[in-house]
Amino acid sequence: MRYITHNAEETKAIAKELAAVLQGGEFIALIGDLGAGKTTFTQGLVDALGSKARVKSPTFTVMNEYKIDPPKNGIARVIHVDFYRFSKEAELGALSLEDEMRADTVIVAEWPNVFAREVYEPDIKITLSHKGGDEREIEVETGA
Ligand code: ADP
Ligand code: MG
Repeated sequence: MRYITHNAEETKAIAKELAAVLQGGEFIALIGDLGAGKTTFTQGLVDALGSKARVKSPTFTVMNEYKIDPPKNGIARVIHVDFYRFSKEAELGALSLEDEMRADTVIVAEWPNVFAREVYEPDIKITLSHKGGDEREIEVETGA
């Protein structure tokens, strides 16, 4: 599906639609340039699942966790990661993201495409592109 949004709220609304069909266990890849709206999209997703937390860019912390309490559709937490500062797959070792992949967890990853190969095969791929001004194109691809 392809959408055009004109402000951050509209982008969050697309994330809300996606949140409604999540079941837990998904790995969501967010692809797009700086400022395209990846973190904004994540905020919309975390909001829609019922967390009041303010989602901040995990560029420096690398990984942030948002508890969903009570769980929604079996989802008890969202893990938000940002690989912007990574370049080699070997650097991922310390993160142990595999250990976080559980049925009650949704992982949202910004910049999963910085590595030489596709390290994580996403269940859902979101591509956000600048279209001039505040306009963004958002493509949502879910697995076959
Ligand atoms: P990224 O994580 O991709 O670097 P952010 O979500 O942190 O991007 O930043 C996007 C910025 O662009 C925010 O300041 C947001 O308010 C603004 N913005 C303007 N229009 C839109 C839009 N249509 N969708 C998402 N964000 C938008
Ligand atoms: Mg970001």
